[in-house]
Amino acid sequence: MKILVINAGSSSLKYQLIDMETEQVIAKGLCERIGIDGHLKHTPMIGGKSVFNEDVAMPTHAEAIAAVIDKLTSEEYGVVSSMKEIDAVGHRVVHGGEKFACSVKIDDSVMAALEECTPFAPLHNPANITGINACKAVMGDVPMVAVFDTAFHQTMPGKAFTYAIPYEYYKNDGIRRYGFHGTSHRYVSARCAELMGKPIEELKLISCHMGNGSSICAIDGGKSVDTSMGFTPLVGLPMGTRCGDLDAGVIQFLMNKYGFSIDEMLNILNKKSGVLGVSGVSSDFRDLDAAAEKGDERAQLALDMFHYWVAKVAGSYVAAMNGVDAIIFTAGVGENSRETRQAICDYFGYLGVAIDQEANSKRGEDIMISTPDSKVKVFVIPTNEELVIARDTKDIIGG
Ligand code: ADP
Repeated sequence: MKILVINAGSSSLKYQLIDMETEQVIAKGLCERIGIDGHLKHTPMIGGKSVFNEDVAMPTHAEAIAAVIDKLTSEEYGVVSSMKEIDAVGHRVVHGGEKFACSVKIDDSVMAALEECTPFAPLHNPANITGINACKAVMGDVPMVAVFDTAFHQTMPGKAFTYAIPYEYYKNDGIRRYGFHGTSHRYVSARCAELMGKPIEELKLISCHMGNGSSICAIDGGKSVDTSMGFTPLVGLPMGTRCGDLDAGVIQFLMNKYGFSIDEMLNILNKKSGVLGVSGVSSDFRDLDAAAEKGDERAQLALDMFHYWVAKVAGSYVAAMNGVDAIIFTAGVGENSRETRQAICDYFGYLGVAIDQEANSKRGEDIMISTPDSKVKVFVIPTNEELVIARDTKDIIGG
């Protein structure tokens, strides 16, 4: 069985074709500048076929999907002989609101429910819906499944997801903590239980997804019980360019003083804040490390803040779960930056965490980086959201 995994953004579309017998990626790629002009980079992963990396006209997502199918099935770049070999499509969908606590097969009622969730993610959900419709237009009635970033967090109890504002805003308008990165937190926590050789039902885990966007999740017995992102992905930790937690009074003060519109203000909080805003150097942690090493104090402050916030939020989850068995680092920063992991773990002495320097220097594999006698185990587990989407799709369409 072969499953196409699609992650559609407003002007981009990432894809992977996965062979479910081996769980190997057989081709992957990225369409960019959809609706502007269009560019496709398609990389076959098997059989030594050529990489395609050229401009292709993409007025809409439908032309992008058509170009992807064309390359997947072509003589020179292809990995399958026809579209019929693609058994199903799994779509990443950002927001499933309270309607979706797990992945679902897409039908008309699901499409209607996705539309209803759009006000919660006005930038992301419309792009995901467009991607689904484009696939339908190009691929006909191939079964499709939606996998939600929010679904894993639907197990959070009311005390963790309710905001302390008048309750009718939750009841009438759905204002609450939803959380994101759920597919990633689900994957790494399940993998961590496997590596520990214990049933996940018996474990208390803290998953730290640290990339451009970052979130932490408390996972008790395999269920998300709290997470740092909220109604939107803007809050929690300071991120590459997002501000993280912020007193709402600051928003009022700055809007009044500088005459910002709410859109201008949110653009600052989403795109110009976080470690970029504090350092004035970059949103990329590699640039921050380099600048801090040369003595840039604001780059060092941005890094110190990030480490402090991860440690502080993770510490609050130890309290929330009344303990922790393992801490997991994943995503771009979590998987690659030995220094970041060490700096965060330096805060965890009170938990009896001890890091094995040699293990912490390795890269690109699932690995325990704590010493054998560390009271709380620490793992680096490269995340694989596409594989979760493909597995869910396979399970749901009954392959
Ligand atoms: P996204 O949230 O866009 O999926 P990723 O999980 O791919 O992001 O993470 C991207 C980030 O990972 C980059 O912005 C960069 O800061 C960080 N990163 C990648 N490699 C390293 C490294 N070797 N050291 C420190 N940070 C790294």
